[in-house]
Amino acid sequence: MDIEAAIDLVSAWLDAVQVESASHRVDEPQARYRARDARGEPGANSTWPLAIHEAAHAVVATRGGLRVSYARLRADGSGAVNYEATPTSVNEMVSRVMADLAGVFAELLRDPHPLRRQQLATSCDVLVARLNADLCRGLVPTWELSHRCFAVLGACAVASSWQDITRVSRALDTSGSLSSTRIAALCWAGPRCAL
Ligand SMILES: [Zn+2]
Repeated sequence: MDIEAAIDLVSAWLDAVQVESASHRVDEPQARYRARDARGEPGANSTWPLAIHEAAHAVVATRGGLRVSYARLRADGSGAVNYEATPTSVNEMVSRVMADLAGVFAELLRDPHPLRRQQLATSCDVLVARLNADLCRGLVPTWELSHRCFAVLGACAVASSWQDITRVSRALDTSGSLSSTRIAALCWAGPRCAL
């Protein structure tokens, strides 16, 4: 899928989020997975697209200056990247929305199966990105932060970091889990890609 088509899709998905129920639908699974990660269950080895999806979150969050604690692939086929932004910082919150959308864009740019595309449309990533986009708009109501604007930023962050994302993805696929230090080292380990 080309980048313009991916931006159009994600903009429409963000528009369609039912905000009233989004936080409820996000909180329960995130709390469950955070508890499992805190128990230190071993990371799993996996294959594309999970590793590339999680690597995109990790790279865009790291390069956006967010506080990343780990990336991991779980034995049940799910994955996670834990990153935080200061809720009162516009700069960090915009970076956060870009990181929230990065996994979705990484998959869309590689032409996922139509069924996977349907899953992505209503995924926790899109719900969380919409909630955080609303927070950004609340911080700076005079800025015209449209969903298309966030989608463009997220898509460009992924496309321009593709070499780093591939590098982190390979390491994640091999080890199942990466620390923030390892992710940062992999992000700046190789030559920059030509845009
Ligand atoms: Zn994700």
